[in-house]
Amino acid sequence: MSDRTGDYIAGLFAPEDELLAALREEADRTGLPPIAVSADEGRLLQVLLMSIRARRVLEVGTLGGYSAIWMARVLPDDGELLSIEIEQRHAEFARRYVQRAGLADRVEIRVGRALDILPSLDGEKFDAVFLDADKEPMPNYFEWALRLLRPGGLLIADNTLWGGRVLDDAERDEKTTAVREFNRRMATDPRVLSILVPTHDGVAIGVVRE
Ligand code: SAH
Ligand code: MG
Repeated sequence: MSDRTGDYIAGLFAPEDELLAALREEADRTGLPPIAVSADEGRLLQVLLMSIRARRVLEVGTLGGYSAIWMARVLPDDGELLSIEIEQRHAEFARRYVQRAGLADRVEIRVGRALDILPSLDGEKFDAVFLDADKEPMPNYFEWALRLLRPGGLLIADNTLWGGRVLDDAERDEKTTAVREFNRRMATDPRVLSILVPTHDGVAIGVVRE
């Protein structure tokens, strides 16, 4: 997709409000990595969550809370977003903006390594899981997500084109191999019906079969 196309879509469908713009500005200024979802992906997440009337959402990889705020804004009053983040500094930044957004009652950020925290959630059920953290454990995150999702729930994952590297079989590094394996499972596991949408870095979306 060309930049002009992206700008057209984001400008028309996903204008940022002041709070999200301020979050991005402070994140850039204070050296948070510039890897939050784009505004149009934020809107895509909202459309997906609202379409299944999501109430409980799990995010893996909070960063500054940008995607968390997009998502939490379409949850009902009794909705809950649990977001897992390994970096204390990122979690604190995100909590500050979640508070400013008036979403503190709906968003909980848990600090730790996702593979350490996910087992503590075993037995809980989520309407949607958004994977947007480290890539090496992606096949593992796939299995955890399917364990934690209700039938009809959504498994959404960012960066599934991984800068185009998944297309090239010669790319054999650990991250690319893991993302490729994640995509293979999304595409072929009979428990999900999935597609990879070619946003700037690829968003994979799967619905858990009933
Ligand atoms: N979803 C965010 C962007 C997340 S960037 C947004 O769109 O706004 C990826 C985040 O995952 C980083 O903050 C990084 O610190 C975190 N992360 C990386 N490895 C992790 C792990 N093993 N467990 C939990 N979080 C991790
Ligand atoms: Mg991402």
